[in-house]
Amino acid sequence: MNMDPLDAIADGMDAETPFWVYLFPPAVRNLVALGARFWRQAIEVAIKGGVKDSAKLADLAFFMHHPWRLGRAISSTEADAAALVKQWKGFQAAARKMLRGAGRKSGPLAIVNTPLPRSAIGLHPTKAQSRQFGLPETIAALTSIGATWHKRHPTGPRIRISDISRRGGGKLTPHGSHRMGIDVDIRFMRTDGKMRAVNPLIKSQKRFFDKALTQELVELIRGNTVLNAHLIMVNKRIGLSNVNGDNDHNNHMHVRFCMPGTYDLRASRKATGLLGIGSYISCS
Ligand SMILES: [Zn+2]
Repeated sequence: MNMDPLDAIADGMDAETPFWVYLFPPAVRNLVALGARFWRQAIEVAIKGGVKDSAKLADLAFFMHHPWRLGRAISSTEADAAALVKQWKGFQAAARKMLRGAGRKSGPLAIVNTPLPRSAIGLHPTKAQSRQFGLPETIAALTSIGATWHKRHPTGPRIRISDISRRGGGKLTPHGSHRMGIDVDIRFMRTDGKMRAVNPLIKSQKRFFDKALTQELVELIRGNTVLNAHLIMVNKRIGLSNVNGDNDHNNHMHVRFCMPGTYDLRASRKATGLLGIGSYISCS
């Protein structure tokens, strides 16, 4: 980035905020204010804002984790210098990976541009971020659902989110759908806190299926006010209510949100090969 630190300091710096924060665009500063667990999103947003230097991005993550350093560099005489350097290098490696990702060619539907945050409250991503891109509205709905869930269940279990879409939409193997950033697979709640999927139709797994909590999750998704759920597809033999029963989806629910009216649903279906295939609606 090419901002002169002194210019940045002159430009409305306040006493509580260390100078290094001003080296990054305003959208990054908002994430810095939210705390260390938003470091990945801060890097992503900084990259979008034009920061291409992995060392600067590593600094960003590092100082988010050590705000009391006020931007002070690591000194070899510090007691834990080796551990701090190791942590900084880890952030640089992550930043390089994200820089490479940002340069990759996108899919057929550019509006599928928002990754599910790795650290959203109440949510646990069970897939790589490359399989968890959605419309901004989809990700906002999920983070809102996660936050409400966390308030009700502060000690867990968290909501386990599986496949959404890939960056830029289009075919996501092995799915037929999941092409427009509005389809989200969510695992059923378990009784034992384990992360893997549970299929209540398999006798040996039935006792690990928490039907009451799963039903509560269905109601929460139905009731969210960010984005309406058009379909919640679940095998009808499982006996959940307020869902769209089918003959598969026996270890997760497939949530399909409506597509926000600001986007052209027909054009989006056409771009991703879904014209005439499946049931999708525009949010009214
Ligand atoms: Zn699915």
